Amino acid sequence: MSFKNTVISSLKTVISTILLVLANIVAIIAVDYISADFTVGPLYNVLLIIIAFTAANAILWPIFRRFLMKYIILTFGIGAIFLNSLIFYIATYFIPGVYVGFYGFWQVPIVMAIFTTFMTNITNTNYYDNYVKTMLKYAIERKTPYKKRYPGIIMLEIDGLSINTLKKAIDKGVMPTLKNWIENGTHTLREWETDLSSQTGSSQAGILHGNNKDIVAYRWVEKENDNQIMVSGKLSHSPEIEAKISDGNGLLVNGLSIANMFSGDSQLSALTSSRMRSIRRIYNKTLHTVFLESYNFQRIFVLFLWDILLELKSQIMHRVKNVQPRLRRSIVYAAIRAGANVVLREATTEILTSELFRGEIDTAYATFMGYDEVAHHSGVEDGDVWGVLRQIDVQFQRLQSAIEMNDREYKIVILSDHGQSKGATFKQRYGITLGNYVRRLLPDDLKVYQTEYNIDHFRDAMMPESKQLKTIKERVETIRDDLFDGEGSIQNLRNEIQERKPAIIFENEQYLNLRERYSNSLEYITGHESMEHSTKKANDSELIVLGSGNLGLIYLTQWKQRLNYEEIVMLFPDLIPGLVNHSGIGFILVNSITNGGMVIGQKGIYYLDTDKVVGENPLEGFGENAARHLLRENSFNHMPDIMVNSFYDSKNDEVCAFEELIGSHGGIGGNQTRPFILYPSEWEDPGELVGAESIYRFLKNKIENLDSG
Ligand SMILES: [Zn+2]
Repeated sequence: MSFKNTVISSLKTVISTILLVLANIVAIIAVDYISADFTVGPLYNVLLIIIAFTAANAILWPIFRRFLMKYIILTFGIGAIFLNSLIFYIATYFIPGVYVGFYGFWQVPIVMAIFTTFMTNITNTNYYDNYVKTMLKYAIERKTPYKKRYPGIIMLEIDGLSINTLKKAIDKGVMPTLKNWIENGTHTLREWETDLSSQTGSSQAGILHGNNKDIVAYRWVEKENDNQIMVSGKLSHSPEIEAKISDGNGLLVNGLSIANMFSGDSQLSALTSSRMRSIRRIYNKTLHTVFLESYNFQRIFVLFLWDILLELKSQIMHRVKNVQPRLRRSIVYAAIRAGANVVLREATTEILTSELFRGEIDTAYATFMGYDEVAHHSGVEDGDVWGVLRQIDVQFQRLQSAIEMNDREYKIVILSDHGQSKGATFKQRYGITLGNYVRRLLPDDLKVYQTEYNIDHFRDAMMPESKQLKTIKERVETIRDDLFDGEGSIQNLRNEIQERKPAIIFENEQYLNLRERYSNSLEYITGHESMEHSTKKANDSELIVLGSGNLGLIYLTQWKQRLNYEEIVMLFPDLIPGLVNHSGIGFILVNSITNGGMVIGQKGIYYLDTDKVVGENPLEGFGENAARHLLRENSFNHMPDIMVNSFYDSKNDEVCAFEELIGSHGGIGGNQTRPFILYPSEWEDPGELVGAESIYRFLKNKIENLDSG
């Protein structure tokens, strides 16, 4: 550093210190003036308080940190705020004339933190830059003598950001760091395409473990497991899911996982769902980084409060401007949003920075989830999201600077796991949830099937041996509509499945009526007028309807196996036509015993196994790989009896979610299946990237060759 620069930098330090002292003076006087629970006494006490508090902090904080870190982390940092107040109390206890009551105990340190945070923001004397030096020191203390020379890779995920929204953010100038990388040619931006289930569970399983088989949706039902509802992100479920998808060779072997759903078999992890099992296990040594100095968590705490205010302001503005569609958002949501958007974001950057300085990890993958959270509730491209993205871009800038300061090189990859599509929800549009609509299409009392026939026999009947099923399917070359065809073919079908299906279905009067009225499946779909039986609630154990964005899953849980198309038609003839004729539904996916996967729309059927279309193609507008994704999904375990995907309106670029979220993802249609990856330009072109597992292959290949390049 030149002499001139040194002078400027020390001058800056002096000025910023003076400003910080001023901010503290104003804060103390303000609380004294407003609060009845705090008195300064003579005015010179203000300076004494600042000096005593600073000194007490310097002495006591390291002691508290050393012995109480576990307690601080398990209270999500609230414990740190308490300790900070305690230090303040101890420091002022010995100053004559100062009175600190119960409220004053909390008020003064928090107001001081707020004033100093604003002062550092206004004067652009960044607290954070100071903190980087502290982290560097901390990392060097923990460094082992062995030093790796080859570069590492850090992968940073912006949860839920589609390539199209990213491009808009770059054009708007809210992501200057990414813009620079693209314009300077250091990084290349590419689109990739998710699998059918466009959500973090499936995508991170694919990206981090190279395997997302059987992850049907964000939530699914395991019929054979007592109808257990599995939830990808649930702390008690994600370890179980990871155990099934992991072969031990994930993306992060010898790496670090932060704030992800799955660990990628990482050596180190923090805030990773699959490694926590319950929130009590959040404690993790890497989190110490956040609490090295008391001003750091105060800074985060103030930003947290600020984000809550921003959200409340947005709620009021959305109402005043009558923005549509709009969700009702509560104060609880405001706190959750601030937690995801601010606390996790800052903690993630700091943990990463500290580990980069240590230089022992080869890889890291971290999720920034603020955008996804805000876009779900405020809207995919609502004014709120640009501020969120701006702050995420600041993190990239910080990490890049940390790498520049570092003695080990790290390459940066930025990517997203899926996008989001917009539109009012199913319930907002039609005044009814998908679950209640399905109930209307089912008979009043599903139990008739349970009580009239022997349930165990029925259950056995519905459990075809998969091998046998395969031989039937393999023989099918053209579409077989045995259900509605003449006598001969139905006899064949009967013979083939005799052992596995109760004969009673074929003699069923309802079924014979259907056969008389319709000559084939398409005619049945387009011609059958579904009766809405009743709004009476079906017994919960007999029907489970789940929403995963604009993907709906219908499980008829009386049967231990997935029901076939033929079985559903015979058991509940109003169900399938009733679903596909609803204008909120784009298509459904069912499995036929003779034809395999059938995608049924209002005016046509797509037979997935043979790629044949009868009538109008129900997958028109859903992307050229839609059938490929659906075919794969149809082979998954735990598939619902009927899978539903909402319509996609390409003119307005809208879908409708079956959950109450106006920005949604989980199925297909629109930007939700169009995430991006921004990778170092010196890497060769990966070619077409379809499915999350293709991202794993691309990145794993780079990681495996790290020390050879
Ligand atoms: Zn989401």
